[in-house]
Amino acid sequence: MEKLVIVGTGCAGLTAAVYAARGNLNPLVLEGRQPGGQLSTTTLVENFPGFPDGIDGPELIMRMKQQAEGFGARFQYAELTNFEQKDGYLTLHLDDEDRVNTLTLIVASGAAARWLGLANERKLIGHGLTSCATCDGAFYRNVPVCVVGGGDSAAEEAIFLTRFASKVYLIHRRDTLRASKIMSDRVLEHPKIEPVWNSAVKEYLTDDKGEMRAVLLQNLVDGSEAELEVGCVFVAIGHEPNTKPFAGKLPLDPDGYLLKTQGTATGVPGVFAAGDVSDKVYRQAIWAAGDGCAAALDAERYLTEHAEEPGAEQTPAGQRAEAAFPSAPEELAEAI
Ligand code: NAP
Repeated sequence: MEKLVIVGTGCAGLTAAVYAARGNLNPLVLEGRQPGGQLSTTTLVENFPGFPDGIDGPELIMRMKQQAEGFGARFQYAELTNFEQKDGYLTLHLDDEDRVNTLTLIVASGAAARWLGLANERKLIGHGLTSCATCDGAFYRNVPVCVVGGGDSAAEEAIFLTRFASKVYLIHRRDTLRASKIMSDRVLEHPKIEPVWNSAVKEYLTDDKGEMRAVLLQNLVDGSEAELEVGCVFVAIGHEPNTKPFAGKLPLDPDGYLLKTQGTATGVPGVFAAGDVSDKVYRQAIWAAGDGCAAALDAERYLTEHAEEPGAEQTPAGQRAEAAFPSAPEELAEAI
């Protein structure tokens, strides 16, 4: 029986692993489909405190992992596909058919940016293609850039980018924004932002070094095509939280993000959530790290409280979990 399993090795999962391992919980960390989370696909991270010259995303992740391993965290390349609530513990189903029993679980499986699905997209990430203006906007000073999307994320990214870029094109497939009125008004009134309506990016065009130089746009009304020169494309067409194994078992909001009750608790005893899997507002590495820390402390407190109960040795989370365990997602939502 594990004391704690952590799902995910982005900033949230790894920070939880550092804290839990240092607190002698001997956590097992499941690496999942994208080890290192979203930082593993970024280049320089300039806004993580403690690195005045910036640090490469993958290196930051590697250092966090080393730190967690140094305190005794164990890592396993496996993906959680399902879990069952048992009598005071959880049975996790892994993609390699393995089963793991655990008293507590921290879900830090992150979220994945949606991309356009164009041919050379994956290769261009970090070379003039990104999904995070806060992370990469400052690299594109005094050059034109574009944002793709028409929701609040696209509006927010476009407004943020006006601090650096000479011009921000907002490419949207319709002729009205989906973003809230206040954000739409800010975008439409901003002198540096130029909306490009009814348009879709058909191709990314690169220079001879493989860096983004322009996009090929298609007008969706008349079918015409035109090149637009940009130093960077910021894709902001939404994120998808990695919550598939938890649907119907943990409370999710209408966009599929994990809901929290108090601190990082999910409303299901022994299960905690941290980082982008439960955050659609901040989406920052440092925030995810802080949330991972909170989840580890919450899990530790939970284990301590349950270990103190009489007869808790065999099923520390047992009787209490049985009593408090809502059985259906609706009951879970109500409990929040
Ligand atoms: P969103 O509201 O789902 O908007 C996604 C946008 O991308 C839509 O305009 C959509 O176009 C467009 N889009 C989707 N797939 C596309 C594709 N394949 N090609 C081109 N365009 C595509 O996502 P979001 O903006 O990330 O926001 C998600 C949630 O977080 C929302 O509830 C939002 O209000 C919230 N949020 C809030 C804040 C804030 O309050 N500060 C900031 C960010 C996000 P259509 O409009 O045509 O569907």
